[in-house]
Amino acid sequence: MHEMSLACELSDLIENTARQHNAKQVTEFTLEIGQLSGVETESLLFCLESALSGGIAARAAVKIIEKTGRGTCVQCHHRLNLQDYYTICPKCGHYEIQITSGREFKLQSVELI
Ligand SMILES: [Zn+2]
Repeated sequence: MHEMSLACELSDLIENTARQHNAKQVTEFTLEIGQLSGVETESLLFCLESALSGGIAARAAVKIIEKTGRGTCVQCHHRLNLQDYYTICPKCGHYEIQITSGREFKLQSVELI
């Protein structure tokens, strides 16, 4: 369960951003979460709710952008979508896939008033 510490980090980041801009309130923020980032969206949202409560972003809407996991087979260069790290290339059966996207976890934007 590392979602709670992620939620706390996000909460700090969002509140600092708001303070830097002398904002009264955070109305919305957007998170980018890759399918391979290991972050469980549901439990992150749950933790965020308590991490943000009482703060400047307590009532902010949360937007989630899910990034599909994508990779390239090291052997035959076939491009494929990845659900997890342990995917075998459907073309040649090779197990070594170089991940090209899907590991993202970041705060993409914050809307302030
Ligand atoms: Zn392959």
